[in-house]
Parts: sequence; C-alpha cells; structure tokens
Amino acid sequence: MIRTLIYFSLVAVAIAVAYLLVIIEPGEIAVQWLGWQVQTSIAIAILALIFLCALAAVVYHGWRLLRRAPRDFWNQQGHERRNRGYRALSHGLVAVAAGDPHEARRWAKNAEKLLDDQPLSRLLSAQAAQLSSDAETARLHFEKMLEAPETRFLGLRGLLMQSLRDGDDAAALEYLRQAKDLRPDTPWVIDHLFEVAQRRGDLKTAEQAALAAARYAVWPREDAYRKRAVLLTARAERAAAQGDATTALQELEEALKSVPDLVPAAVLRARLEGARGKERRGAKLLETAWKRQPHPDLAEAYLALRPQETPLSQVKRIEKLTAGAPDHLESRVARGRAALAAELWGEARKHLQLAGGLRADRRVCRLMAEIEQREHDNREAAHDWLRRAEQADLEPMWVCDTCGAATRNWTADCGQCGSFDSLTWRSPLQALNEAMADEETPEVSGKNGGQDGDSRDTAPTLTGQAVVISEKRTPAPAA
Ligand SMILES: [Zn+2]
Repeated sequence: MIRTLIYFSLVAVAIAVAYLLVIIEPGEIAVQWLGWQVQTSIAIAILALIFLCALAAVVYHGWRLLRRAPRDFWNQQGHERRNRGYRALSHGLVAVAAGDPHEARRWAKNAEKLLDDQPLSRLLSAQAAQLSSDAETARLHFEKMLEAPETRFLGLRGLLMQSLRDGDDAAALEYLRQAKDLRPDTPWVIDHLFEVAQRRGDLKTAEQAALAAARYAVWPREDAYRKRAVLLTARAERAAAQGDATTALQELEEALKSVPDLVPAAVLRARLEGARGKERRGAKLLETAWKRQPHPDLAEAYLALRPQETPLSQVKRIEKLTAGAPDHLESRVARGRAALAAELWGEARKHLQLAGGLRADRRVCRLMAEIEQREHDNREAAHDWLRRAEQADLEPMWVCDTCGAATRNWTADCGQCGSFDSLTWRSPLQALNEAMADEETPEVSGKNGGQDGDSRDTAPTLTGQAVVISEKRTPAPAA
C-alpha cells in the first residue's frame, strides 16, 4: 500500500515537473528510427516516456507474479494440508481423552498422513494403539520416536510405561537409564528409576536415584537421605553376608552419616567393629544411637560385643548404655532384663515395674513371671503374670506401614508385601487400631500367646490390616 502511494506520488511529481518545463520552455522534439519519423511537442514526449515507464513496471510485476505462482500455489496447498492435519490431531487427542479407540485411530491415521513425521501425530498414533490394546503397534510408534532427538524422551517414556505394564523390569530399567542420560532431573525418571532398581535388587542404581532426588529437590531432602541410608544398610548386609566387612563398614558409615539413629545400621556396624577388635568404637556407636533411639536390638548388640562378660558386669554396662535416655521404656526393660540375668531380683523388679506399671506390655509381664518363678518359686504369682500377659498389649516390633505385618527382624523390604522402607518400630496393636480407624473392616484373630518363657519366642497373628509374621529371634548371647 505504502509502496503504491510512493509510486503514484513519484508519477505525479514527474508530471508536474514536465508540465512546468513545457510552460517555462515550450518547444518540439523529432525522433527518426527504422524509417519512422515522429514529431511532437516536449510535453507529449515526456508524457509518452512516463507512460512507457509505467507500462514497463506493470509488465515486470506481471512477470514476477507468473514466476512465483507455482511456488505460492504449493505453499498454499501445504498450509491447508497442515491445517487439516492439526485439525485431525486435535480431534484425535479429544478422542483419546474421551477413551474412544475407533475415532482415535481414524484421526491418528489422518494426522499421520497429513503431518508426516510430526512428533505429536506419532504420539497420537501410539496412544490410539494403546487405547485399542494394540501394544505391538504402540511399541513400534514409540520406537520410531526414539529416532528423532525432539521425540526421543517422549518415546522412552512410552516404552517405559509399556514395560512397567508388562512387568518387564529389565527393559524398564534400560529405558530409565537412557531417559536419565537425557534429562536427569525429571521427577518421573528419578521416581521410577529408584523403584525399579530397588525392586530388581540393583541397590547401587537405586542409591544414585535417591541422591539425584535430593540434589534436584524431587523428594524432601530428609526422605531422600533416609531412603539412601536404608539402601546402604541393605547393601552392607549383603556385603557382610559375603564376608566383605570392609565394604560393609564403608556403606554403614555413609548410612549413619545421613541417618544417625538408623538402628539396623548401628547394630550391624557395631557387630562388624567388634568382630575386627574395635569393641570400644562399636560400644560408643551404640551408646550414641541409644540416646537418639533406644531399641532392644542396640542393647543386644552392646552385650554381644563382650560375650564372655559375667551377668554382673553386664548390669553395669547396660547402665552405661542406657545413661543417655534413662527414663525411656526400653532403658527400663534393658536394665530389668540385665538385673534378672544377674539374679538381682529387687533391682529387676524395680526397673520392670517402672517399665510397665499397670500397663505392662506382654514382654514385661513375662519377665515379671520369670522373676516370681526364679526368685521365690512362686508358681501362682508367675501364672498370674502369664495370664496378665495374655491380655496385655504386644511389645513394639517392626510394623509395616503398608500392609500392617509385624516382625522382630528388620529388613529393607517388608517380608510380607515387599514395600521398601515401610517398617516402623511401634506397637502392632496400636498400628492395628489405627488401621481399623482408617478402614472399617477390622478382623482380629488368634491374639494368642501365653507360653512360658521369653515373649520373644511368641508369634501372635493378627489378620486383616495387621499381620504378625512368626519369627524367632536369635537369643542374646548368654554370659
Ligand atoms: Zn508390608
């Protein structure tokens, strides 16, 4: 538009100049060319020249239009084709969202034809195939997406999800490794990498995923460190079982740096330190852990550091261990148990009464029964305590937060449901009550027990939300 205006302005100016020239200096011009003779006034000659220039401009424009016509035509066609392709794509995506496999497939075919290798049309085709339960076609589309850099990550995600659905963890782990190389800070990559590697027993990869989760703030830092520490402990257990104490100790040191009160790590490290003659270091470690988290396993490991010790010396050492948290229930029970072993009846009674009072748990009741039996041979009082034990709450155990199973031995994965790091040290009945409050389908059966001897040998079973796995514990080393 502006160009046209400029053009006409120039023509107008030229005409004005010519007119002025004619008024100022009138005259004639004669042209002789190829036997032709033209004689005219200057004004006509200038107008004729302007007309010729204008004609030349029009011819030039016409020629340019003609020359560009095929290209413009194809561009227009391509534009329309793309528009139709995008329309098919959006219809297809709507059909996928609506769960209509027939429509999704139809539009996907259209979009693929119109848009060639557009990443979105490939994705639509794969999703339409998935919707039609055609896993093989979907896989082919996802694999095709791996070829282009811009669709590679998307293709990996599609293939990963298919592998997870098929339960093929080996393939899933391979896709996850490739996805991690492309985008290491993507939350779904880290989450799945941790989950699949941990499930496959590839603890090293799972540990790296936990570290990445902390580095990229995908999980809360505390959770990430906790999971890493549990993995390191599991790895240390594996190394220790294979006789590689050095590696196990390195792993445990790292684990305890992240989570200093991780009881299983402290127990194993103390045991390994003791085995290589570093008994004092092991003891120090357990004393520190006790301050943070008093736990019967720590007491057991503490006494195991000096297996030849007399019961009286054990009483003194347990005093030292529990000094960091003297009023804790587990400190009272550990002291009572040690005093009982040393036949310090008054001392044992005092600690156990403080441990339970009127709400003594099953373990404390049994220890009291043992005192009555051994100190005064008072069978009636012993039976009273054992009867009371049957009604009493269970002592704390490792209870799975996912399935409610309870066990006396810690493992990184729940032995019942396989959940990772789901075991919490607490009362199984309390856990069951909480679960019953959450879901109104409680069922408790066989809350039995009542056998003579240490409560550690009993295995009550709770069904429904909470299940107690029957397991005997290795008894603490005798003096
Ligand atoms: Zn479980």
